[in-house]
Amino acid sequence: MSNATYGKEISKVLITKEQIEKRAAELAEEINRDYEGKPLLIVCILRGGAIFLSDLFTKLRGDVELDFISLSSYGSATTSSGEVKLIKDLSTPVEGKNVLIIEDIIDTGLTLSYLIELLSARKPASVKLCSLLDKPERRKVNLQGDYVGFKIPDEFVVGYGLDYNEKYRNLPDICVLNPEVYAAK
Ligand code: 5GP
Repeated sequence: MSNATYGKEISKVLITKEQIEKRAAELAEEINRDYEGKPLLIVCILRGGAIFLSDLFTKLRGDVELDFISLSSYGSATTSSGEVKLIKDLSTPVEGKNVLIIEDIIDTGLTLSYLIELLSARKPASVKLCSLLDKPERRKVNLQGDYVGFKIPDEFVVGYGLDYNEKYRNLPDICVLNPEVYAAK
């Protein structure tokens, strides 16, 4: 268990920092096995994905490039509308490369299907998806993570890079946000 203690804005701790670290190491091993001998371009989605990336990245072996992309999805603070805007593009060319997208959470899947379409148009050798969390109940498009840390129920979570209105990203664990926090808005 994590030692962190939280106030009433947090309903419960869903996944501890220690569980995440262990799972990130397992996923890195899987990725290393699957891409053995093949160069890899990691595309990390800002900002939430960066915290998960930091646990995963130094455990990857071989020839690994890293780049960042930033997307914004319109909607309310806790649900995405599917309208996605590109805020910051990659600096690295994608053509002919094995791309692995690193994301914090797959929810409706709309943000990622936009990104996969965008990258696929640049003719990569392959595009795969690694997400720390997956909320399969909320999916609106046919999309699955190739590497998934944890499947979670349909609850709004914060911490470990995930925010609510830019707050709570720095919590060490994945926590369920008390619905009263966003119901009051
Ligand atoms: P999607 O397009 O799959 O619905 O949404 C993906 C994005 O919505 C994620 O990258 C994340 O920013 C946000 N999101 C979805 N579910 C949650 C959640 O439970 N907590 C937080 N903090 N963000 C979420």
